[in-house]
Amino acid sequence: MDCLFCKILQKEIPAGIIYEDDQVIAFNDINPQAPFHALVIPRRHIATLNDISTEDREVVGHMVMVAAKLAQQQGFASDGYRTVLNCNNHGGQTVYHIHLHVLGGKAMGWPPY
Ligand code: C5P
Repeated sequence: MDCLFCKILQKEIPAGIIYEDDQVIAFNDINPQAPFHALVIPRRHIATLNDISTEDREVVGHMVMVAAKLAQQQGFASDGYRTVLNCNNHGGQTVYHIHLHVLGGKAMGWPPY
């Protein structure tokens, strides 16, 4: 499958992997938008948030839990941090394998124009 993040999962493309288990991996974003910027992705290829099904509930919930765990490990829990899951063109999605952005280490603005 011609998917960049599947290639990272297969270790065909290098990435700064910071966490992995049987369901997900997390790696440092190659173009960080904050002092800490990681992506949590499922091992199973799911193209967009529109494509999740009932059977993906566990892995999507696990992605969120791993994001919170990473933020806690980085010491961002009390100051706060941002999680983002972009969907399709208007959402700003550029890689079509779902990924949860975890950003921390600075105060971020809202709304996300
Ligand atoms: O949500 P969106 O699809 O725009 O995010 C894709 C993210 O994947 C970007 O933040 C980009 O920097 C990151 N990326 C990466 N490693 C790659 C290619 C893209 O971390 N090899």
